[in-house]
Amino acid sequence: MPASAPSEAILILGGTKEASDLARQLVTGRPGARIITSLAGRTKEPAPLAGEVRTGGFGGAQGLARYIRENGITLLIDATHPFARQISANAAEAARLTGIPLEIRTRKPWAKQPGDRWTEVKTLEEAREAIPEGARVLLALGSQHIGLFSSREHVHFVVRMIDRPAEPLTLPDHTLVLGRPGDSAAVETMLLIAHSITHIVCRNSGGKAAYAKIEAARQMGLPVIMITRTS
Ligand code: NAP
Repeated sequence: MPASAPSEAILILGGTKEASDLARQLVTGRPGARIITSLAGRTKEPAPLAGEVRTGGFGGAQGLARYIRENGITLLIDATHPFARQISANAAEAARLTGIPLEIRTRKPWAKQPGDRWTEVKTLEEAREAIPEGARVLLALGSQHIGLFSSREHVHFVVRMIDRPAEPLTLPDHTLVLGRPGDSAAVETMLLIAHSITHIVCRNSGGKAAYAKIEAARQMGLPVIMITRTS
């Protein structure tokens, strides 16, 4: 490390709103430290982040350990999405290999509240099979998981995406809504009513950003097919 390098260098494994908030807090709160957020590079135009940003895989736990050593990282923070399991496993292994502390800041899952009508399933495949015929489903999943539901006929899917997908969706019967998730139950209720939604399919991601639709479903008495975490 050059003599002028800061003594504290924090690597945040990010890709979540929580990681972005944390980077902002650390940049302000620890002015002498290098604050680096790592992104996998899945989003074409990620929102700007405070501090430094690096993008792309490290090449497994060994690669992450190499990056930590080469950049004099003193603290590793795992603030990735709770369903991003591989990178979290790599973080644990890289921290062990390098002997630096690992802080885990992944979100806690949502807890079922009175009034919630959840069918809890373990996998995307189980969620697909749990949808009754004739349902109108808000499919609140990442674009990479949508194709799995293409085999379901006699179901109308409503898919919300921030960017128009490069290829048309393969779902037999669907409506594509372009936009970000609503930030309040009232906004999400409008979407659910406008599309006559009867069911929501989503993953138990935890956190505030995606919770508005769960609150809206509770208020409307709508069933939610909730994919839980297996670890
Ligand atoms: P994953 O399955 O756990 O990771 C797959 C590989 O992608 C990792 O082995 C690693 O490659 C690379 N990678 C993942 N996160 C990285 C990061 N923050 N920085 C650098 N490399 C990373 O991850 P995923 O589920 O594809 O998620 C990728 C990213 O999107 C994560 O940052 C996550 O926080 C964010 N995200 C995921 C979801 C979700 O539903 N899974 C939702 C919202 C945001 P190498 O082994 O080559 O290092």
